[in-house]
Amino acid sequence: MARIVMKFGGTSVADLDRIRNVAQRVKNEVDAGNEVAVVVSAMSGVTNQLVGYCEDASPMYDAREYDVVVSSGEQVTSGLLSIVLQSMGVAARSWQGWQIPIRTDSVHAKARIEDIGTEELDKRFKSGEVVVVPGFQGVGSDNRVTTLGRGGSDTSAVALAAATKADRCDIYTDVDGVYTTDPRIVAKARKLDKITYEEMLELASLGAKVLQTRSVEMAMKHDVRLQVLTSFEEKPGTLVCGEDEIVEQELVSGIAYSRDEAKITLIGVADRPGVSAGLFGPLADTSINVDMIVQNVSEDGQKTDVTFTVPRGDLQRAIQLLEEKQEEVGYERLVSDSDVVKISVVGVGMRTHAGVAATMFKALAEKGINIQVITTSEIKVSVLIAEEYLELAIRALHSAYGLDADEE
Ligand code: ADP
Ligand code: ASP
Ligand code: MG
Repeated sequence: MARIVMKFGGTSVADLDRIRNVAQRVKNEVDAGNEVAVVVSAMSGVTNQLVGYCEDASPMYDAREYDVVVSSGEQVTSGLLSIVLQSMGVAARSWQGWQIPIRTDSVHAKARIEDIGTEELDKRFKSGEVVVVPGFQGVGSDNRVTTLGRGGSDTSAVALAAATKADRCDIYTDVDGVYTTDPRIVAKARKLDKITYEEMLELASLGAKVLQTRSVEMAMKHDVRLQVLTSFEEKPGTLVCGEDEIVEQELVSGIAYSRDEAKITLIGVADRPGVSAGLFGPLADTSINVDMIVQNVSEDGQKTDVTFTVPRGDLQRAIQLLEEKQEEVGYERLVSDSDVVKISVVGVGMRTHAGVAATMFKALAEKGINIQVITTSEIKVSVLIAEEYLELAIRALHSAYGLDADEE
């Protein structure tokens, strides 16, 4: 007997037929004698629709009311799945975030889970009742409903698995595992049997939305055995695990991309101490996340250019703020570009092998793709390029690192 948390994403619960399919999978685990908690997303498309309602209601909507609206999608699926399970003779009950409770901080729309009460859950596990939990939602210190940021149901599932010391957390989605890159972009993407927490964390934070970044962070911290698999077929998925469980480690495990990027270049910035602090301090104070940064040394010690990236949705706010600071900071001109994407190659093998970045630059050069900004860390190299080359670049890199499926 095992204790299992099963999470089903939006496409897996997109309509009643699919919810029946999910219920059957849950029943199979119950019939096998396991204790089961299920975390469900909203039906696919519903959260986007709810977000749209808020934006249409008022562009300056209150984040607390946004959470009231967008958390409702998951409430519906938790009830529907419970009804279907009961109709199949499986004892099941839905438990909303506030009922468990899943306690979060009060940063509405991007709350973090702080604590999960396990008393009620333990009782249900013992009595053999399936616990059905709406993902994405919790209750803040202000006792109001909160949501965990887009893709947050993954984090609900992992947090529940950690809190209840589950043996497994199975994330069912619309692809059959974690691939070397998004299989919707590269047909030759290869499914990975296993991937390290660390690599998955990098891939997720660099744009691979198959798992929410925080869910991987939490799985790594609490040693949750995390699997990604499809709800549409019976086949093994990808295990996210510690490095010690992986026998043969590839140099590069995966390639991620993010379209959520915009580039700002400040031309003619004074080359003196305090300028970067004067620039990036105000951006940080308004919660604008700056990611890649390049600054040249000036030839004459007088003026230089600074380029950096911000999330695309924050570009206008960032420009406005920087224009207000133009005199104070002292720069000549601001140029921006939102038709850019960030592509990253990730692999723990980079720690011990040289040449990964060189392979990347060569593969992009061969396709005539210009690299605008480069950043590296211990296990990743990222480049910023024009958005029009996104697919070409990912395919070229996928081949260059020998990741294509038919090369096995
Ligand atoms: P769910 O609704 O089940 O949470 P998501 O849409 O959030 O599903 O995540 C699954 C999607 O992640 C896939 O459909 C796929 O397009 C995308 N994806 C991006 N990178 C990868 C990758 N490396 N491996 C698998 N899927 C990926
Ligand atoms: N329904 C939420 C979203 O679309 C949470 C999730 O599905 O993970 O972002
Ligand atoms: Mg998701």
